[in-house]
Amino acid sequence: TPELKRAESLILEIPDYPLEGVLFRDITPLLADAEAFRATVDALIAPFRGSFDVVAGLEARGFLLASAAAYAAGVGLMPVRKSGKLPRPAAKMSYALEYGIAEVEAHADFPRGTRVLLIDDVLATGGTLAAGRDLLRELGYAHAGTAVLFEIEGLGGRDALNDPRLHTVFRS
Ligand code: 5GP
Repeated sequence: TPELKRAESLILEIPDYPLEGVLFRDITPLLADAEAFRATVDALIAPFRGSFDVVAGLEARGFLLASAAAYAAGVGLMPVRKSGKLPRPAAKMSYALEYGIAEVEAHADFPRGTRVLLIDDVLATGGTLAAGRDLLRELGYAHAGTAVLFEIEGLGGRDALNDPRLHTVFRS
């Protein structure tokens, strides 16, 4: 659609951010365009219609997409947070970063067996989404699929995730 074409053109490539040699995809101009944003959120969830009960968003940019997706689909939202930010006991999953380890956490606010669609803005190496998926398993939820706005090809994320229900709207 023309809206999706425009959306794609609104993902900016920023060289050497946050580190030299990294080509950062900046999605804020896409979010700023009402029609592009709406079309992108619709495209993100379209393949999964009827197959999920809840949308999970990864902090922080995943929240922006997941909350819109949850509203559009008429389902609840599960924020997957970085460590140390949740006020109640939470399930935790640690994962390797280039240097050191990080942790994601979520409250167990849904019944076991809840079908969860995982959402993030960018798939790079896949470490973040893999941790999110492991966290869902830890909580006893069913993984309905993974929806990502932009896939950076060539960093191995798709292979690392090895998810037959991975859907990415844009890629390069
Ligand atoms: P991964 O764990 O797949 O290596 O990295 C994905 C995570 O890092 C996502 O949560 C995403 O928000 C962030 N990320 C990595 N590269 C980029 C990028 O180029 N642009 C944006 N917006 N986020 C990125």
